[in-house]
Amino acid sequence: MIPESLINELKEKADIVSIVSSYVAVKKKGKNYLGLCPFHSEKTPSFVVSQEKSMFHCFGCGAGGNVFTFVMKMENTDFLQAAEIIGDKIGVHIERSAYDEKNREQKNHLYALAEAACEFFELNIDGANEYIKKRGIADPKLFRLGFAPNSWDAISKYLLSRGAKLEDLLKLGLIIPRPNAQGYYDRFRDRLIFPITDHRNRVVGFSGRALNNEEPKYLNSPDSEIFVKGDNLYNLGLAKDAIKQQKFALVVEGNVDVISIYEAGIKNVIAPLGTAFTPRQAKLIKRFSDMVVLAFDADPAGVAATERAQEILKEADVRIRIAQLKDAKDPDEMIKRSGKEAFIESVKASCPALEFKLRRVIGRFNLNEAEARARAAHEASAILSDEKDKILQSEYIKLASQLIGISAELLEGEVKSKYSFYRARSSLRRTTAKPSSKVIEAQKKLIRLMIEWDEATVRIKDELQLENFGRYEELAKKIFESPANVVLENLANTDEGKILREIMLSEEPLEDRELILSDCINSLKAEAIKNKMEALRNAFSDSEKKGGAEAIASMNKEYLGLNEIFRSLAR
Ligand SMILES: [Zn+2]
Repeated sequence: MIPESLINELKEKADIVSIVSSYVAVKKKGKNYLGLCPFHSEKTPSFVVSQEKSMFHCFGCGAGGNVFTFVMKMENTDFLQAAEIIGDKIGVHIERSAYDEKNREQKNHLYALAEAACEFFELNIDGANEYIKKRGIADPKLFRLGFAPNSWDAISKYLLSRGAKLEDLLKLGLIIPRPNAQGYYDRFRDRLIFPITDHRNRVVGFSGRALNNEEPKYLNSPDSEIFVKGDNLYNLGLAKDAIKQQKFALVVEGNVDVISIYEAGIKNVIAPLGTAFTPRQAKLIKRFSDMVVLAFDADPAGVAATERAQEILKEADVRIRIAQLKDAKDPDEMIKRSGKEAFIESVKASCPALEFKLRRVIGRFNLNEAEARARAAHEASAILSDEKDKILQSEYIKLASQLIGISAELLEGEVKSKYSFYRARSSLRRTTAKPSSKVIEAQKKLIRLMIEWDEATVRIKDELQLENFGRYEELAKKIFESPANVVLENLANTDEGKILREIMLSEEPLEDRELILSDCINSLKAEAIKNKMEALRNAFSDSEKKGGAEAIASMNKEYLGLNEIFRSLAR
């Protein structure tokens, strides 16, 4: 752990603009700095850094926080590592505890051992030459392919003779204890070896493909201190720059597919290491691009894997397109059979996940029959009703109705009937009329004033209620209770934190604070009175139906009183 005092020292000394600038180009604009957001892809800059407030915020995707949050997100590290990186940049040495230091040394030791093991496999590549030729791999060296000899102790002998420790070989899973006997044997035997590297190109594990019909076909390193299967992607080290440039990652199932596609000149290609796609892999991709084209195998297992990957990617807010392989079971076969141009075409022709799903579901039915068309329409409308973007939904309703051969209006009706249930529920939550933009502006300005000016907080507490802050009520409550920097820290990754950063970074100067404060307070008071008057009007019409002259008279009086105040406020 880092002592609190050191964290504070880092906070004081680390200038957020220079730290951010070491990753992203930002330009001074007004009192803030502006650039293209590194966390989502955009063409017009909405990424704002405030030197004065030591914070960053993206108005496009909502990412934001302080210098630690930035480095953690950028480098995909934990707090401790981020603090170290920042410390390095500004020349503050971070004394690691003995435990951390030992842990890091141990890890570095394992990285070196994995590297040595990789070199051993590479030295023996001749054993896999026949297979490599057969698969048409042109440059095995680039991928550092290797071969594990058909021996029980070849790698252990090699590494132990170079001073490696048995326990470290065990830790990396390069050897396995013999069952019912003393000693160990090599895990990878008679296999083509694909080294697995992390995104910094360090070897962390291995994936071995059987060259004779041995089971399993693919054997991976077990998880270790430096390798967690679900945290890594095959070829990311080589592909990451191309992924950034092309603004998407092409994800395929197999390692051989990756190599074959990469050699065909499509360099932004990666694979999920034979496991089901994991949320951590989705996050890892998102560091380089927010779009993925999936080109999984064209068999039922591939389709199922595509669906699962879609859910996980969607969860991580990654956009998904799906490439359809024509006349081939996997990308490698397609490239070999129809040429790389055909494959590149199919990647270009990839369609959004929703369209792909619609085509697949509708494709199951024999649309010459009326009943089949009806069933296809039901299934399609269930899929379409999930789409929240109304414009997209209406586009896909058109497409699906054409595919099925029914009218778009008919299908739209079907989609709406599936949707209305949810809409009915959500409308219940909205109890009062939507406030005008003027009111929302006033709420935001008051929050900003409270953060920048203690006196404002005092006056606002006197003159307004928390309810006056409408959608910002929770936020106002927190600011009423504690200082702004504490609030910001506590809200870091929440929706409220996002709103607070947006308010704090708004460019508009608050020149005559005194005047703005009074104006905004008045606006919110006026709004509250307006709402009360509206409630009274509704009550009038109810009591008029029921009679009750006395009630009407007292309401009338109250209404006129409110109207008086309202007019004075709105002057
Ligand atoms: Zn962004």
